[in-house]
Amino acid sequence: MFDRGGLDRLGRHVRAAGLGRRAVVVSDATVAALYAPRALASLARAGVTADLIAFPPGERSKTLATAGRLFQQFAALALDRETAVIALGGGVVGDLGGFAAATYLRGLPLVHVPTTTLSQADAAIGGKTAVDLAAGKNLVGAFHAPRLVLADPETLGTLPRRGFRSGLAEVAKVAFALEPALLRLLESESDAILARDPAALDRALALAARAKARVVSADERESGRRMILNYGHTVGHALEALGAYRRWTHGEAVAHGIRAAARLATRTRAGTAAWEDRQRAALATLGFGEDFPRVSIAALWDFLARDKKARNRAPAFVLTARVGVARVRRSLSRDAVVRALTSLGAAP
Ligand code: NAD
Ligand code: MG
Repeated sequence: MFDRGGLDRLGRHVRAAGLGRRAVVVSDATVAALYAPRALASLARAGVTADLIAFPPGERSKTLATAGRLFQQFAALALDRETAVIALGGGVVGDLGGFAAATYLRGLPLVHVPTTTLSQADAAIGGKTAVDLAAGKNLVGAFHAPRLVLADPETLGTLPRRGFRSGLAEVAKVAFALEPALLRLLESESDAILARDPAALDRALALAARAKARVVSADERESGRRMILNYGHTVGHALEALGAYRRWTHGEAVAHGIRAAARLATRTRAGTAAWEDRQRAALATLGFGEDFPRVSIAALWDFLARDKKARNRAPAFVLTARVGVARVRRSLSRDAVVRALTSLGAAP
């Protein structure tokens, strides 16, 4: 649920969701410093006893090693099966805290309190949890549906500009893949959204979250339609891994991935040049106007072939013909992909 200012009502929301009187707040150090005091105070007011565990911020914490430390700390706190894990932070906290919640004692109740554009619009919804391996993103994980998602858009006010904007790539992804009203909103209100105007921003986030929730509830285990939420993520994930999870944020990589998918669609006649242009223009008004990075395609291909969605080393691409019309293509040759990426600026 979206509740502007709702962080101060976390305790009440947790109780209303039928969760018990014990919780552990898992966060990263940055978010913990900004928001854990208010979260803990609200929990205390509602009679929920909570401990706080924080790890260093950033994608490079989303590992089995950090998960291992969380398990040790859970054990030291003697958490029981009714203790709720409250993941307070961005997608990294949600994925890692969610993974720990999914696996410790074979499953603790999970609450997401997303604090980034990306996690409010996307990551906190849908029950996927994961950690990365050096070999690739999100290679180890579990499905674990949260009992409560409390998104307070007010918390987005403290995000640095790059982090705020980055998440808008996932909002654009949802718009392109499935939500025409959201695409029109992004096209007409990009300035207000970038200025974090509450009305425009809350509407964009809610439209994205709701559209994702609709798809997920129809296909929780990603056997079919949910695949379309991976739009832009085949090349996006490969870029992230290639950049050692440092060079591009997830959202920035996804924006490049969307432009790659749009180009592939045009080249294979799955989409039109006009549709590709519309997506490129929308991304540009949201601040994603950079050229495709001049990375080595051979290196990129290695990551593409190892992607979770690949079968027999053939990567799967989600291609769209227009909003709401997407399909998965596994039959694209290495050559076709290389030519499309080269035409965007990658190095052959
Ligand atoms: P993140 O969690 O690393 O947050 C980005 C940075 O912003 C961090 O440094 C964090 O400390 C800081 N931060 C967070 N909230 C803040 C706030 N309110 N004010 C100031 N600083 C704040 O990254 P992210 O972009 O939120 O999430 C990316 C991750 O989400 C990736 O690992 C991606 O794979 C994952 N993801 C998961 C799903 C899913 O369905 N599970 C979907 C999309 C993305
Ligand atoms: Mg994503």
